[in-house]
Amino acid sequence: MIAITILKNLRAPPLMNLVFANRKLSFYDTSSTPKTKEDNAKLHREQEQRNAEDVLFDMFASEETGLISMGKFLAGLKTTGIRRNDPRVRELMDNLKKVHKLNNYETGSSAETQHLNRETFKAVVAPNIVLIAKAFRQQFVIPDFTSFVKDIEDIYNRCKTNTLGKLADYIPQLARYNPDSWGLSICTIDGQRFSIGDVDVPFTLQSCSKPLTYAIALEKLGPKVVHSYVGQEPSGRNFNELVLDQNKKPHNPMINAGAILTCSLMNALVKPDMTSAEIFDYTMSWFKRLSGGEYIGFNNAVFLSEREAADRNYALGFYMRENKCFPKRTNLKEVMDFYFQCCSMETNCEAMSVIAASLANGGICPTTEEKVFRPEVIRDVLSIMHSCGTYDYSGQFAFKVGLPAKSGVSGGMMLVIPNVMGIFAWSPPLDHLGNTVRGLQFCEELVSMFNFHRYDNLKHLSNKKDPRKHRYETKGLSIVNLLFSAASGDVTALRRHRLSGMDITLADYDGRTALHLAASEGHLECVKFLLEQCHVPHNPKDRWGNLPVDEAENFGHCHVVEFLRSWAEKADQSSEECKPEAVTSKTQADEEICSTSDLETSPTTSPIPTPVESGSRAGSGRSSPVPSDAGSTASAGSSIDDKTKPGL
Ligand code: GLU
Repeated sequence: MIAITILKNLRAPPLMNLVFANRKLSFYDTSSTPKTKEDNAKLHREQEQRNAEDVLFDMFASEETGLISMGKFLAGLKTTGIRRNDPRVRELMDNLKKVHKLNNYETGSSAETQHLNRETFKAVVAPNIVLIAKAFRQQFVIPDFTSFVKDIEDIYNRCKTNTLGKLADYIPQLARYNPDSWGLSICTIDGQRFSIGDVDVPFTLQSCSKPLTYAIALEKLGPKVVHSYVGQEPSGRNFNELVLDQNKKPHNPMINAGAILTCSLMNALVKPDMTSAEIFDYTMSWFKRLSGGEYIGFNNAVFLSEREAADRNYALGFYMRENKCFPKRTNLKEVMDFYFQCCSMETNCEAMSVIAASLANGGICPTTEEKVFRPEVIRDVLSIMHSCGTYDYSGQFAFKVGLPAKSGVSGGMMLVIPNVMGIFAWSPPLDHLGNTVRGLQFCEELVSMFNFHRYDNLKHLSNKKDPRKHRYETKGLSIVNLLFSAASGDVTALRRHRLSGMDITLADYDGRTALHLAASEGHLECVKFLLEQCHVPHNPKDRWGNLPVDEAENFGHCHVVEFLRSWAEKADQSSEECKPEAVTSKTQADEEICSTSDLETSPTTSPIPTPVESGSRAGSGRSSPVPSDAGSTASAGSSIDDKTKPGL
């Protein structure tokens, strides 16, 4: 019988703080003190938050002065896609101004370039720490935003040289555009922003307003009512052709007849009691909310010109009235004016990219986090945009690009990558079907570089990039899963990890291996599997110098202690060391279990310093009869020596 020594100074029970590169996951706490789930979650959040503020300071502070340069910090934040004027970091920016004022700076530095000590920095960032920590942990939908942006810039520059296309000239305001204008803005569902070119130049929404008014009608009336008036089919005809479908309804809300009909629903059903002016304000306020408060204006000259040059649109209106398409109480003149007003609302690429991102994000604006539309509404809007959004090119666009989009006669192209990002491209020259030439080229090049096409296979298509993938993601999650499997006694899961070719000797931030966790939790089967079949070393030391056998002892698992002791004796007697390749060789039983190999890395670089990358478990003095794969352990970021700069 082995005597179990319960150490007086028993350290904290297993808490796995996994760090890989600049990223840390704390997720598992087997604390024996009974706590409610909420307590644990709260404790966990507080701990994470405290960690994050200190870690950020350590990442950017100068060792010489012990101060952090806020200029450097904000530049680092920008590389993740978060801008200084993002509403989600408003408190941080306000705090900087307050501190700057309080310090009465005379050094010439601005609020945004001042240097702060640890405590001040922590107080300044505290209100926005959740977002900031997420940014630096690379937990946004595009983790390596810097690399992504470089690729986007390349595509942008290629499109810039394309001088094909003609300006729309049915009204003078459109004919006066500069054909060289070319702007592109991106906003992800996490509010990561990138803009290049003429992104602040105002232009009118034109047909890009159509999906937005359709969304309001859907939100307020529901799809049943809306689609009792307007169809869902591509018309197969010109966007302003005098034609209705077989049910005497306009084909869909993306062509002129359908959009005029949607405007009539707004007037007669959504807000029957509002005056024309009120409906205009009401609609504009929806657009503004979708854009996170960015620029939405109105161009009166365009409105007047549109109304002047609207024979066809009036003809469509009368034709629909003749066919009883409109709801009762429709005032056609008011409806037509409202339609021209929607087309004449003014905006820019920046604002439109946020609108596109709100559509990508199920109706929630990424920058303000306001829930503007219900997700079901957005699903319907995107479905129609997918099949009908680019005039007579819609079929080809759906085939080649495979994403919902809406183009307009002023040269805009709103592209939505659902659950990822919104993109707005603006360049006035149009092709013969009315789509912006540069915008179209951009969309087509985008999906040939990235696997964004709706029907790209995310798993097996290897010739396209997936910017959604974190370079550490699959490996990191595998480490998390590995340690979790060991701690929860899941031998089958451990087998899968082994079959996937994973290094089973990987350790967490505290130097704790799967064997440590299996031993501390008393999972003898797992301990046996790890030693007998994976041939992991029986004596790795964690950061406190504890062996797996110490863990088993500390937590009173006699059977595991016994097994580990006799294993150690045998190992000491045997001079033959286990071969490293045995770690991944399969037994017959293993063959029966499906293999999941997701050890993937990409050669991208991190936009921010990665302080723990310098640490490596190789050479950390771990005594083991089995030479472990030090390289992969190091890449997991288990920096034992560098305790001053733990990763996020
Ligand atoms: N104002 C234009 C019209 O109704 C919109 C055209 C468009 O962008 O497709 O004719």
